[in-house]
Amino acid sequence: MASLLESGWLYLITHFSEFQLATVVTFIIHESVFFLSGLPSLYFERSGLFSKYKIQKKSNAPASQDRCVLLLILYHVCVNLPVMIVSYPTFRFMGLKSSLPLPHWTVILSQILFYFILEDFVFYWGHRVLHTKWLYKHVHSVHHEYATPFGLTSEYAHPAEILFLGFATVIGPALTGPHLLTLWLWMVLRVLETVEAHSGYHFPWSPSNFLPLYGGADFHDYHHRVLYTKSGNYASTFIYMDWLFGTDKGYRKLKALGEEMKQL
Ligand SMILES: [Zn+2]
Ligand SMILES: [Zn+2]
Repeated sequence: MASLLESGWLYLITHFSEFQLATVVTFIIHESVFFLSGLPSLYFERSGLFSKYKIQKKSNAPASQDRCVLLLILYHVCVNLPVMIVSYPTFRFMGLKSSLPLPHWTVILSQILFYFILEDFVFYWGHRVLHTKWLYKHVHSVHHEYATPFGLTSEYAHPAEILFLGFATVIGPALTGPHLLTLWLWMVLRVLETVEAHSGYHFPWSPSNFLPLYGGADFHDYHHRVLYTKSGNYASTFIYMDWLFGTDKGYRKLKALGEEMKQL
């Protein structure tokens, strides 16, 4: 298995330059994972499939979903891709590498875990700042246009926010100078996580049912459906930052109420 991966990697590095891999190929992987993982919840919402597991009763009109998809493509091409190209020298300077041998899986795993923890911390504070009056009105309200989120709304935001919170995503890799394979895996997992958190569906097989500190769709959906000054639940991946800083009180109260109703 390891040698198969290494020969695949050898093919990549002999046919493409590191610049091409770190920019255009990274962009293609991102687009593929993002749209493939985000489109199912859009389809579920349109078709009514799995409606039993839908967190909110409300649904988005197809026209507003289409508008979101078109704007996403525009932002990805005009903001994300140029940022990937411009930031390549910085990553290179910070130690990004693409050569063989590939890093040991324990290195990959520990780096990715570190990125998740750091990203969650930086995102939490950045997101709280975005919920102050001026920044919310002029920047963050774009992401909140969809009070009933669906997977693809995860990356729907003002370009200034894409840059601002994108910093949380890249700070970990920039600090550790990872292998490109680790960077790709981190990007894929982070995209899958945020798409799931915005999916609008809480299934019996949703990861938050199995991973104790993971927020997921139920946690983040609350953030979207409550008025911005009262929403809380600011963290991106885990639940402990909101618990530590007391910004999950409204959500906890609602959960407790739900449990009480079930017992009646
Ligand atoms: Zn928000
Ligand atoms: Zn959101």
